[in-house]
Amino acid sequence: MIANPFSYSAPETIEEAASLLANFDGDAMVIGGGTMLVPAMTRGESKPELLVDLRRIGLKQISLETADIVIEARVSYDDVLSSALIAKEAPLLVHMASGVTGGRSITGQGTLLGSACFANPASDVPVCLAALGAKIRLVGVEGIRDVPMAEFFLGGFLTSRRNDEVGVALILPRPRGRVSSSYRKVKPSGSSWPIITVACVVELTAEGTSTSLAIGGLDSTPLQISANGVLSPRDQEGLVSKLVSMMREPWEDALADAEYRLRVAPAIALRVMREAIGEHHD
Ligand SMILES: Cc1cc2nc3c(=O)[nH]c(=O)nc-3n(C[C@H](O)[C@H](O)[C@H](O)COP(=O)(O)OP(=O)(O)OC[C@H]3O[C@@H](n4cnc5c(N)ncnc54)[C@H](O)[C@@H]3O)c2cc1C
Repeated sequence: MIANPFSYSAPETIEEAASLLANFDGDAMVIGGGTMLVPAMTRGESKPELLVDLRRIGLKQISLETADIVIEARVSYDDVLSSALIAKEAPLLVHMASGVTGGRSITGQGTLLGSACFANPASDVPVCLAALGAKIRLVGVEGIRDVPMAEFFLGGFLTSRRNDEVGVALILPRPRGRVSSSYRKVKPSGSSWPIITVACVVELTAEGTSTSLAIGGLDSTPLQISANGVLSPRDQEGLVSKLVSMMREPWEDALADAEYRLRVAPAIALRVMREAIGEHHD
């Protein structure tokens, strides 16, 4: 039961949603799938006075927009798993979504954009968005902005989304060549939150090979690095070392301290990168 009283509004346009958020005199929150927010309200940890629900606006599409893949705000993990477009253009997300726990109530309702806004450093989505070079499209009363992940994630559970802004879509650059990817996470048990997450995307175009590697759960925000050219085993080790050295705010929570995370992350990162690179040798 939710003990705190709250108002609920389901506007018909994004502009109306942004205006509701901007003009409400109190704590107003957008609800996505509600898989994190509703339990937090039940436990009394979140006490919004207004919930803005996007369901009447739609925002359930996955589409191509010139050179980008657009994943709208209410797209769930299950939507990703049944999308031929995602399977072809961003297989990393299929890999990620197929490992999300909690059963159909989570995978059918939880949204990728909601996970990004929640900004848990060790959850599955942020690290994948970082590896894919994604942006988040935010609409507020002052207009639209597309924010790269490096500027969106400010810390654990902290983003640069302003209070009046609605997250409307995740924007992924469409690969220009052949793509392979890999994703792994370290978890103490099947149903727990991850401790470390690693995503790697390798793209092979006429101009050459590029590799994007990201680690989540090591720092308070995802760490990401890119490299061009074919990477020798020594280059791969160097890239992982460089990525790990980018850590500024070591992350720890009840599952693992920073020292453990630092011990396991490099080996997982190297393995994931080798898996992604290996797929090009078939
Ligand atoms: C049993 C269980 C298992 C889970 N398993 C996993 C797992 O394996 N991997 C994993 O990564 N996560 C997991 N989660 C966490 C969670 O369900 C997901 O990360 C989910 O994607 C969150 O999305 P949501 O749409 O439900 O967010 P919500 O709960 O609706 O919202 C989360 C936060 O984001 C904000 N928000 C949501 N949408 C918008 C928007 N459009 N604009 C602005 N702000 C917005 C909300 O205001 C809130 O602050 C699990 C949760 C549970 C309860």
